[in-house]
Amino acid sequence: ARGKAERWVSTTCGYCSTGCGLLLGLEGDTPVAIRGDEACATNRGQLCIKGAYQWRTLRHPERATTPMVRKNGQLVPVSWEEALQVVADKIREAIAEQGPEGVGIYGSGQLTLEENYALTKLARGVLKTPNFDSNTRLCMSGTVQGLIKVFGADGPPGCYEDLDLADCLLIFGCNPAEMHPQLWRRMLKNRLERGARLIVVDPRRTIPARVADLHLQLRPGTNIYLLNAILHVLFRDNLINREEVARLAVGLERVEEIVKKYSPAEVAPLCGVAAVDIEQVARWIAEAKAATTVFVQGVTQSAAGVEAVSTICTLHLLTGHIGRPGAAPFSLTGQAAAMSAREVGASGFLPGYRNWQNPRHRQEVAVYWGIKPEELPAGTNDIGTMLDMVAEGKLKVMWNIATNPVVSLPEQARVRPLLEKVFLIVQDIFYPVETAQYADVFLPAAQWGEKTGTYTNSERRVNLAERAVNPPGMAKTDLEIIQLVAKRLGAEEAFAWPDPEAVFEEWKGLSRGRPCDMSGITYGLIRQERGVQWPYPAGGVSQQRLYTDGHFWTDPEQSQSYGDFNQAAGKAWLFATDIPGEILRPTEEYPFYLNTGRIMEHYHSRTKTKRIPEIQQLAPEPFLEINPLNAQSLGIKEGEKVRIVSPWGTAVARARLCDTVAPGQVFLPFHFGDADYQQPTAGNNLIGNVVNPLSRQPLFKLGICRLEKC
Ligand code: SF4
Repeated sequence: ARGKAERWVSTTCGYCSTGCGLLLGLEGDTPVAIRGDEACATNRGQLCIKGAYQWRTLRHPERATTPMVRKNGQLVPVSWEEALQVVADKIREAIAEQGPEGVGIYGSGQLTLEENYALTKLARGVLKTPNFDSNTRLCMSGTVQGLIKVFGADGPPGCYEDLDLADCLLIFGCNPAEMHPQLWRRMLKNRLERGARLIVVDPRRTIPARVADLHLQLRPGTNIYLLNAILHVLFRDNLINREEVARLAVGLERVEEIVKKYSPAEVAPLCGVAAVDIEQVARWIAEAKAATTVFVQGVTQSAAGVEAVSTICTLHLLTGHIGRPGAAPFSLTGQAAAMSAREVGASGFLPGYRNWQNPRHRQEVAVYWGIKPEELPAGTNDIGTMLDMVAEGKLKVMWNIATNPVVSLPEQARVRPLLEKVFLIVQDIFYPVETAQYADVFLPAAQWGEKTGTYTNSERRVNLAERAVNPPGMAKTDLEIIQLVAKRLGAEEAFAWPDPEAVFEEWKGLSRGRPCDMSGITYGLIRQERGVQWPYPAGGVSQQRLYTDGHFWTDPEQSQSYGDFNQAAGKAWLFATDIPGEILRPTEEYPFYLNTGRIMEHYHSRTKTKRIPEIQQLAPEPFLEINPLNAQSLGIKEGEKVRIVSPWGTAVARARLCDTVAPGQVFLPFHFGDADYQQPTAGNNLIGNVVNPLSRQPLFKLGICRLEKC
């Protein structure tokens, strides 16, 4: 979009974790346009529709501008002084009554790295509460645990250049054409210009699936069966360099023993794919000079999400596709700063990919913050556990920042009464927003373009988003709000940073020597280089790929988790499982598989994108993809309203008849909350509160339902 801009501010897109470089155009102090930054190697001047129109949200009339406190049932405008006093008083009361567990914070990958670090320090170092989680729980936690299981630490090993250089690309459980369009553009270019083979594993016939050499349209919930069968072929046909694998990893015999039982012939009917196609995938990966597997929520949002991530990493170790150009298991991230939240400890770990159970790690963090190790909480609670504690009356105050759980959490029928019950502080950039209907205090926040801070993208590149305009009205940056709350809780000195750069400087000291070492990175360097990848130790160099030296973070003194690593310091731990995690199948009452997910136009719960007319008119309301064969037998016509009924709730959407979904399956975008449509529309009304036991990530990709004509 190009307007009459007088000047352009170089910055980074605030939506997805691709981290596209862009220029925000201003006329005076008014944002009027955006264009892609050709100097940015990530996107070379290209943007998707969300990135191109995000300037539209900066001066939107529904931006939140005033703090509010609920009085006589109504949220009424108050001064910052009054709102912050209520917040501090309520937090103190809750701690006096219940101890640190009386307070919970639910943050977001929408915050910058600096804001996530400040929040982590406040939650763990000042409030000392285990009740601190981020909405990255919903999309990334399976990847984190899966990477830790095999490599000993979080951190995607690959980089975007691998998408250009691989001669075999396996897209497993994701649709980059809609979710990461600029990365899909690079993969497609590789396919068209270099002839890279493209394999897609997805229950839906997405755009990548339509252009792939091979599409395995597997039945939902069967990822583990398929991965085991691919490994089976590698062992059976001696496609593994055992000597090389033994140099890098342990557990080869155990994996071989497990996958022996999963021949393609046995697995094919379970997955609903052809045995010959499974054989083909295994051979293509084994034959490739360099293979990269791209995966996202189709892998992680399942009962065996952690296990599937670990098995994908194992596939790469067995075939030597790691630590080389074009060769990586590569998880793409959803939010601009989801990686940052992971790095600084805002998504369930101690900062710097440290381990709660490691006394040395606890000591390092505590000393850095000037507290005793025993003052740090013993561990961490995820958002689901926090809501359980609300139900039990143990958690009294919840501070919800830059996320909209009334649309995004599973089993909405359970979530909403609990948000009603707890004393809820909502901090957001727009008002109204769905979750604010339950708020006791509302704090207006600045958004992208109105604050400076860093976002780490999917390839571990730390990018800067720059402040170009002032926030509207009385809105403050999330960092300023966190600092003000800390001050009222008596921790002013530890939060007295003059600006976000000072926060980054403090954080990077805590990253020193850890896998996500940023001690050599400065704001100046990021601006100069247009983004810098970690690890980048002080006095060292930036590393484009991880594990190029074949050394992993499995030393128990270093690892992000204790466990099996004790036997294999420095070597990766190969993984396979016999537990497929297929815990839900259609029944007579609920005969369809329900798949939920995202679409290109909208972002999360549409807080921003529904307010952009150019986007909203393209995708104004919820729709349900139904295969024409099913639609015909149910008498459902294109565009008709359909009621979707699951064991957990109902939603209404317009039927979209298409062969993107296989017969017996339906797909519903999760973006649409109930509030805008006077009827239940939220996809997460239909999804149960079932989580992977290790990652605590919900099974958004595996529901069951029946369809009724409205
Ligand atoms: Fe922004 Fe992602 Fe679109 Fe790039 S691909 S413009 S980072 S939303």
